[in-house]
Amino acid sequence: ERREERGERREETTRRRYMNTTCRTKTLHNTTSGPSHHRRRLRTQALHRHQHQHQHQHHQHQRGEAVGLAATRNRKERKGPHTPFQGTKRSQTFGLIARARMDKVEGEQEQDQAQLIDGKAIAETIRGEIRDEVARLKEESGGRFEPGLAVVLVGERKDSQTYVRSKKKGCEEAGIKSFGTDLPETATEEEVLAVVREYNADPRVHGILVQLPLPSHMDEEKILMAISIEKDVDGFHPENIGKLAMRGRDPDFVCCTPKGSVELLERSNIPIAGKSAVVVGRSNIVGTPAAMLLQRRNATVTVVHSRTPNPEKYIREADIVIAACGVANFVRGDWLKPGCAVIDVGINAVDDPTKKRGYRLVGDVCFEEAVKVAGQITPVPGGVGPMTIAMLLQNTLEGAKKAYEQGK
Ligand code: NAP
Repeated sequence: ERREERGERREETTRRRYMNTTCRTKTLHNTTSGPSHHRRRLRTQALHRHQHQHQHQHHQHQRGEAVGLAATRNRKERKGPHTPFQGTKRSQTFGLIARARMDKVEGEQEQDQAQLIDGKAIAETIRGEIRDEVARLKEESGGRFEPGLAVVLVGERKDSQTYVRSKKKGCEEAGIKSFGTDLPETATEEEVLAVVREYNADPRVHGILVQLPLPSHMDEEKILMAISIEKDVDGFHPENIGKLAMRGRDPDFVCCTPKGSVELLERSNIPIAGKSAVVVGRSNIVGTPAAMLLQRRNATVTVVHSRTPNPEKYIREADIVIAACGVANFVRGDWLKPGCAVIDVGINAVDDPTKKRGYRLVGDVCFEEAVKVAGQITPVPGGVGPMTIAMLLQNTLEGAKKAYEQGK
């Protein structure tokens, strides 16, 4: 009898173990995206690779996954399928993060993909906040407070003209007065410097922006240095960048694109402090200030660049990835740590004969792959791009407020 009892117990244990493994595998598959086997394989591969790489964290990680998956399952049981702008407190509160498209998987199961960080919607909210604040301050000051932004455009580049137009339109909508000087391609460096000096001295102007790139016969550095630091709303002045790098010092202005990238993380309630972050690219205007901003927010930051061998080695460790290298689809899905947050700064045109204009815009991250592995991701276009102008307007408002407080 005892032998039989022991046999039954053994069978029961084996059955439980079997069920456990099968359920876990099923859950893993059911929560991967879409009916595509490739997609499932991608996420599973990423998970497996990650587990191999972190031998000592292996159990912890697995537990984390199991908890995550169980949470997903429970949420589905409790609330039914997730739909955009419904479900999480975050999306209800801000209405900003739309859930990435969800395909039907076998049976009734719906799968989860990365949440889209909707830069367009977040930028719109910020622009609304700026508009309201400008209107309030104008009223409180009896019309004396009026922020002003001056944009200097040299040459006839179509893309630059488009950027300048949208910056001016953004000003108009926010109640910021815009000033503009257009100079021909043949203008001399001295002529541009004279315009900058004029705006430096003009009390109606609180921000000066020289649209880049400048014609090749001009010294970009010299012209940017000529902008008064109090009006450097682009945040490119070495003094502003230097202060950003120093502990205990605050720059007057922070470069708009990196500032917008970090703002996207913060407005999406993505924790930064204590997290590990990788910035791809080290340019003065995006990569380097982005890394400094993350570090100021207590992330542990690694910067990878064109001379970094095996950048994927670092990216796989990252909870946050900011990609700004200007190489289309550079960061692959299987380079990412499952559940990480991805901010794709890149804007690259790739040939696409199906499009009327013959090309389409893609980021520095391969979106189609990354969306299956990441927890949150910005699209291109519609991610970081709209934030750049919003941050420019915010910087101009900050500059105007400082000047007003100082009675200028
Ligand atoms: P950039 O000045 O050309 O700098 C690119 C950086 O990426 C450099 O630090 C470079 O490394 C690094 N890099 C290049 N190839 C690499 C590779 N294969 N592996 C790793 N790193 C590599 O470009 P940027 O001005 O920073 O702009 C970056 C991207 O952001 C571009 O796609 C640009 O269009 C986009 N952008 C978007 C906005 C927006 O508003 N959304 C604004 C600005 C820029 P090295 O330093 O070693 O050369």
